[in-house]
Amino acid sequence: MSKIAFIGLGNMGLPMAKNLVAAGHEVTGFDLSDEAKTGLQKSGGDSADTIAAAVAQAEIVVSMLPAGKHVSAVYTAADGVLASAPEGALLIDSSTIDVDTARAVSAEAVAAGFTMVDAPVSGGVGGAAAGSLTFMVGGTAEGFAAAKPVLDIMGQNIFYAGGSGNGQVAKICNNMLLGISMIGTAEAFMLGEKLGLDAQTFFDISSTASGQCWSMTSYCPAPGPVPTSPANNDYAPGFTAAMMLKDLRLAQEASGSAAADTPMGQRATELYTQMAEAGHDGLDFSGIMKMLGGEI
Ligand code: NAD
Repeated sequence: MSKIAFIGLGNMGLPMAKNLVAAGHEVTGFDLSDEAKTGLQKSGGDSADTIAAAVAQAEIVVSMLPAGKHVSAVYTAADGVLASAPEGALLIDSSTIDVDTARAVSAEAVAAGFTMVDAPVSGGVGGAAAGSLTFMVGGTAEGFAAAKPVLDIMGQNIFYAGGSGNGQVAKICNNMLLGISMIGTAEAFMLGEKLGLDAQTFFDISSTASGQCWSMTSYCPAPGPVPTSPANNDYAPGFTAAMMLKDLRLAQEASGSAAADTPMGQRATELYTQMAEAGHDGLDFSGIMKMLGGEI
């Protein structure tokens, strides 16, 4: 069993850390919030007052933080992970952050003698609690092999995406496609309904025809056809429009630095920004259907 430091015990991090404890690992957590640390203690983990103390004995460090600036500070500050963890520790950042920061922090970690992988997830809070997350991992093949047994405890599907930062690239490209396909699906249902085509009838046709996609068959934005979709629960999340907007913005930022043209991603970002500015970004991202239909 390994000594693991877990930094960032929020909605995702705490249940992930709990699964590591349940698997028999010695987990020491750190978060800015005392409540979060107490949550880990209640489940048999330990907590520390500083990052340095949390990682002092760690063989593995896992982090689950809001954004690139937090990851950069946690790893590279004078009293951060790189300055405080034992030489050779394996570092796994599972936060969803910008590609440039992921690569820069990883390069600093490698220069300081560590192995580091970026391993963002999909699957949400439910997947974190159930240990069924999907991990997309960027780093060396050796880093991936070392991280896989730990990720297997917290997740179900663990993919190697290639070199440093490629886990983040896979995550933002997937979510950019999801945002675009959700808007397209919502637009099609909305137009059909306005022209007198019932949602269930359109679903029966399109879900077996060439318009079929995950946004339609697993997460239909129109109420009715898919009973488990948030559309049948007043668009309670699920995956909020705010989270979709975060990932779309990361994709646009990366697109800019790669000099790539992603006009559909750009338009999706604009539409989710409009939804956020109207105060509806707490709704599930499929709630964009209501905005397109002029209901919100
Ligand atoms: P969260 O805000 O609930 O948790 C983040 C935690 O990090 C908080 O407890 C906060 O106190 C802590 N934190 C912030 N700065 C810190 C620092 N300097 N040192 C220590 N702790 C610090 O967020 P979350 O929902 O758990 O998401 C975490 C990451 O996972 C994000 O990058 C998010 O995009 C990604 N993600 C979230 C979901 C989801 O459904 N919530 C799904 C996939 C990916």
